[in-house]
Amino acid sequence: MKLSWQNELQTAFTKPSQLEDFFQQSFTTYDYPIFIPQDLAAKIKKQGLTGPLAKQFLPQEEEAQTGQGLKDPIGDHQHSPTSRLVHRYHNRALLFPTDHCPVQCRYCFRKNELHQNDPLFQGIKRPIGDYLMAHPEIDEIIFSGGDPLILSNQKLREWLKFLDPFKNITMIRFHTRMPVIIPGRIDQGLLDLLHEMSDRFIFSMAIHFNHASIIDHNITQAITRLKKVPITLLSQSVLLRGVNDNFLALKNLFQSIHQLGLRPYYLHHPDRVKGAMHFYLPLKKGRQLYHQLHLKMPGWMIPQYIWDVPGGLGKVPAHNLEGFDFKGQALDRFGNIHSISEVDSSQFLN
Ligand SMILES: *Cc1c(COP(=O)(O)O)cnc(C)c1O
Ligand code: SF4
Repeated sequence: MKLSWQNELQTAFTKPSQLEDFFQQSFTTYDYPIFIPQDLAAKIKKQGLTGPLAKQFLPQEEEAQTGQGLKDPIGDHQHSPTSRLVHRYHNRALLFPTDHCPVQCRYCFRKNELHQNDPLFQGIKRPIGDYLMAHPEIDEIIFSGGDPLILSNQKLREWLKFLDPFKNITMIRFHTRMPVIIPGRIDQGLLDLLHEMSDRFIFSMAIHFNHASIIDHNITQAITRLKKVPITLLSQSVLLRGVNDNFLALKNLFQSIHQLGLRPYYLHHPDRVKGAMHFYLPLKKGRQLYHQLHLKMPGWMIPQYIWDVPGGLGKVPAHNLEGFDFKGQALDRFGNIHSISEVDSSQFLN
């Protein structure tokens, strides 16, 4: 019998011994938590232990090599006025209702924070409400995490009701991997909730895909169900060395995203994450790949290639038509120029 999505979470592999039994292989490092739902584990096994899915989700030796990685690579802490809220851009704020995800991605930019009682993840609604009251310029709340769709429909409803009195907030966005990792999460209760609240909020959802090979019938169906409610579906992907850092993988990915009917939104340059530096690649390499995509694909099928400048300066375009080398200057979305070294960001190490 098909498990409910809650059961899929409850039966996920979390222990080294479970992984070793299932994959018939030992993994040398376990410096970071493990969380892999069994359906995903089966998909990984089918593809093979050197495939792009294994690289994204199974623990790897390289995680022990910290290199130049950062614990808070995009500087969220500087922009967190109150616990569980990050306000970096004028009119939109990130809200973290949970620090749990349906899978533990090995490249995660929060890999040094999730489940660790990080100050970002402590606190309650009250101070968030006070902050939103004092900042009427915020018109969009982006539920991130963790994965907001790991919450029950009841909890999501409570969060939306909590936001309802702030009349300036007209848009709600979910950043999630749930439709990809546990497609059964897109259940009728969620669709009903979105439908019911669509008079009050304009909804969008950015769904995280990195490789076309993860897409199967269940995922396609989950997306089809989502299309029945008023919501704009976006994609976001991370460029990852060894997973999708080649023209064909990216082309297939963006074509699949188009077939699913999502609007391509962001391709993130990888962050310099402690314990995930083996996924990192230089901007120059990413720019060359992106350039090839533009030569061979229609512009509307390609997401924006962006880079979160270390230290909390925000997202800047990573694409540079004039040359592939990084000259040390990044123009942020407010028009300010920052001089920064792509490689030596040791000033931000903590
Ligand atoms: C990425 C991000 C957002 C969303 O930015 P968009 O460009 O609207 O997708 C909002 N707040 C923070 C802190 C972010 O990192
Ligand atoms: S789903 Fe996102 S936040 Fe969660 S582990 Fe993966 S990359 Fe990190």
